[in-house]
Amino acid sequence: MTAKIIDGKQVAADMRAELKAEVEKLKAKGVVPGLAVVLLGDDPASKSYVTAKEKACGEIGIYSDDNRLPAETTQQQLKSLIDRLNKDPKIHGILVQLPLPKQIDESKVLLTVDPDKDVDGFHPVNVGKMVVGEKTFLPCTPHGIIQLLIRSKVELEGAEVVIVGRSNIVGKPLANMLIQKSPTGNATVTVCHTRTKNMAEHVKRADIVVAAAGRPNTITADMVKEGAVVIDVGVNRVADATKKRGYRLVGDVDFDAVKEKASLITPVPGGVGPMTITMLLYNTVESAKRTVLSGR
Ligand code: NAP
Repeated sequence: MTAKIIDGKQVAADMRAELKAEVEKLKAKGVVPGLAVVLLGDDPASKSYVTAKEKACGEIGIYSDDNRLPAETTQQQLKSLIDRLNKDPKIHGILVQLPLPKQIDESKVLLTVDPDKDVDGFHPVNVGKMVVGEKTFLPCTPHGIIQLLIRSKVELEGAEVVIVGRSNIVGKPLANMLIQKSPTGNATVTVCHTRTKNMAEHVKRADIVVAAAGRPNTITADMVKEGAVVIDVGVNRVADATKKRGYRLVGDVDFDAVKEKASLITPVPGGVGPMTITMLLYNTVESAKRTVLSGR
């Protein structure tokens, strides 16, 4: 079997077109969804993520408020900025680009963001709501993965899902979402990590494998069941002298070999990546819709 490729760029483009229409409806009601982006320092990767997020906002009509601060910014200065953004009615979502410089306590920053504007879904209040199955902002990467699966018509109900990776931004929230008693859940989930014994034995059982380890070739063809759906979250740089920049991006899955066994597979790049920003836009539009409903 040769797998069909799940085209994350196409799914993202479809969702962005839907969101653009939603933004137009909101604008007709006098509300322009607004996303504040906060970036400390000038790490090149963070800068390029922030630029991509702002560009994506512009493309669907979301107002983006750019806040770039020096790397030496103090915890108090950052808190003051977030406090101001929390109160600003033009802002419906606040995104603090991670990682933050060493002098900043990241967990305190996440607590400062108003849960009603926490479009990353990282505030403990929103994490708690997600766990108990209440409507809330869902973290972007795992929510993007669920959208990819649903829009590719993958059956989640009763599916055996094996997730490799237990981070707070991918593995843990994805596992929580997939076990919810809901049409976008109802799966049976196993989460593997570096202390898992016989990881291959778990992965071999999976109808759906999600690789989020951050290590090339974590998932090889011998570990994958014939016909499984394989979602590759990993983004890893490997040296490549044939490329101008000296490296290429690969996922966590041995793509060429695994695609001969899987039924569906995401490429890297062009799979999960485009969905992460799309779900940030989705949460920002949802937040603006809530303000219309609540008359805030
Ligand atoms: P992370 O915080 O480094 O977590 C990695 C997880 O994988 C940890 O739970 C770790 O286990 C586990 N792990 C690592 N090596 C393993 C191995 N050999 N066997 C089993 N488990 C292993 O990473 P993350 O932030 O979740 O990101 C994971 C990958 O996804 C990275 O490549 C990242 O760049 C990518 N990513 C992509 C997007 C996107 O939009 N495309 C978004 C987020 C992340 P322990 O807990 O035991 O250490």
